[in-house]
Amino acid sequence: RDSGEQFAFQAEVTRLMDIIIHSLYSNKDIFLRELISNASDALDKIRFLSLTDKSILGDGDTSNLEIKIWLDPESKVLYIRDRGIGMTKDDLIKNLGTIAKSGTSAFLEQMQKGGDMNLIGQFGVGFYSVYLVADYVEVVSKHNDDAQYIWSSTADGSFAISEDTENEPLGRGTLIKIHLKEEAQEYGTEAKLKELVQRYSEFINFPIYLQTEKEVEVPVEEPEEAVKEDEKEEEGKEDEEEEEGAEDDEEESKEEEEKPKATRKEKKKDWELLNDNKAIWLRKPSDVTEEEYQKFYKAVSKDYTDALTYSHFRAEGDVEFRSILYIPSVSPYDFYDKYYEKAQHGLKLYVRRVFISDDMKELIPRYLSFVKGIVDSDTLPLNVSREMLQQEAALKTIKKKVVRKVLDMIRKMAEAEVKCKEMEEKGETEDKPSEKECGQYAKFWEQFGRAIKLGIIEDTTNRNRLAKLLRFHTSKTGDQLTTLDEYIGRMKEGQKSIYYLAGTSKEEVAGSPFVEQLLRKGYEVIYFTDVLDEYVMGHLLDYDDKKFSNASKEDLKLTDKDEVEKKKDKELKEQFKDLTKWWKKVVDDSKLQGVKVSNRLATTPCIVVTGKYGNSANMERIMRAQAF
Ligand code: ADP
Ligand code: MG
Repeated sequence: RDSGEQFAFQAEVTRLMDIIIHSLYSNKDIFLRELISNASDALDKIRFLSLTDKSILGDGDTSNLEIKIWLDPESKVLYIRDRGIGMTKDDLIKNLGTIAKSGTSAFLEQMQKGGDMNLIGQFGVGFYSVYLVADYVEVVSKHNDDAQYIWSSTADGSFAISEDTENEPLGRGTLIKIHLKEEAQEYGTEAKLKELVQRYSEFINFPIYLQTEKEVEVPVEEPEEAVKEDEKEEEGKEDEEEEEGAEDDEEESKEEEEKPKATRKEKKKDWELLNDNKAIWLRKPSDVTEEEYQKFYKAVSKDYTDALTYSHFRAEGDVEFRSILYIPSVSPYDFYDKYYEKAQHGLKLYVRRVFISDDMKELIPRYLSFVKGIVDSDTLPLNVSREMLQQEAALKTIKKKVVRKVLDMIRKMAEAEVKCKEMEEKGETEDKPSEKECGQYAKFWEQFGRAIKLGIIEDTTNRNRLAKLLRFHTSKTGDQLTTLDEYIGRMKEGQKSIYYLAGTSKEEVAGSPFVEQLLRKGYEVIYFTDVLDEYVMGHLLDYDDKKFSNASKEDLKLTDKDEVEKKKDKELKEQFKDLTKWWKKVVDDSKLQGVKVSNRLATTPCIVVTGKYGNSANMERIMRAQAF
């Protein structure tokens, strides 16, 4: 199409499309998943708007919230049409090419690193995957607020927009015409499409129809003899196929014999419904297979790897809701990046089966926004605006229960890991959790450990629960990670504090003069090396009645001094009084709080420590670097 207004794609989109259209990526199927997902999103949007204004749906066919897919085998064009919200001219220009999304550059970067094309949906650029199979695409769209427009592009850096004067009026919604590439002709067959649509549409909450061609028998006028022969053949066949029904068949054919009718086979097109679009979360958990849960996960999360774990439950009481919650195996690419600025797309909120929003911070706290899945509530009101819904007290209850459930799921994985470790040490095997269960928490911690730490900072209510989930290295555990409970279990008699030191690496911390004496006396010291750790410790003052003690701070007290040692301390203090006084005077007074004789060192003659209430040197370093 060279008619219409021409627009240049945003530069990164051009690069992205160039990569996609020339991609040798073999799994081209994903384009269909992405387009169906967009159609479903568009339907969700119009259905949501119709809650407060019924007239928005229009009437006749237009009001059918459905997706239809068909094929022109001759011209090798594949059509996907939804009756969703549609796009105005402005939407087409912005959404399909000119507005830069943060995901575009992030996805390009991933692809350069050899990332999987499959991830495209997660980066918010799924539409362009259509160029895996097409060399020319037209998007015809009709939004209630505008005329019908056509967007078209051959992925050559530009697209055209023109008012549509050639296609049938859509009423409302979007029709995508996919001109299949030479090497993607396999998508031009009904069988292939059927298989794919079934695979990707199983958990889409709108009916999806595929136009199929079937052989049907239609009555014709024909000479009698020919008819008889025809029928005999059929009879024989049926007898072979289903013996049990033989009697019935006989009766039927007798009837037919009485008034013989000639039939002829003819090809007839029909709309075949490919999904049952019943919400999976309404089913009983015992009726849903692991495979179905994982398939549903992929449908709601845009992830393509299985979830690490999930929970399907129903909350009862004042606030009723059903929910399926998933913890992904891999953290979303941008989870920790600009953590405080981003929207939180993870949990989808439904009210009585109607999709409301997938960005409700009232539903789940930020530190758990990696959790995917759905919450469907019967208690929340349906016909109110999103703003009003956010004020609903019931949402608070839902959030509280969801958080509990998620922390429960994580706790279970953590407990299985601890149990496995203990059993391995003891050489026990009876009732041991499966290998998968034993390894789950390590995977979780690797991907989401920082989320747990952020939770300790942000979620005062669950701080203790979250602290239980912490994993770290210590002076006694070598390469193994350990827990606070295990640390406490190993504490020396009379030890009151949990000792830790933070720094840039395990080696640095272990070799630090700050921990010399502690180690020499046999105390275990936690080695924190993540920049977040010291922030976390700023919020976690104690655990299980044990105070945390930062080894780099002035008030570090070793608890196992006996009377003799105490006396010796006093003597030393007297003896070096002049020296400490002199020292304080020599060094700039404003920068020094005091000089003390101390027995916290073993071989190092002196160290500079931080005041009890000041930032540690490590913290100063982090703050200066603005690392977080
Ligand atoms: P995402 O779906 O993650 O936003 P896509 O690249 O798949 O990213 O789609 C880009 C945008 O184009 C969508 O956000 C939506 O605004 C618009 N869009 C795509 N397909 C449709 C459609 N069938 N109906 C309405 N809008 C659509
Ligand atoms: Mg999409």
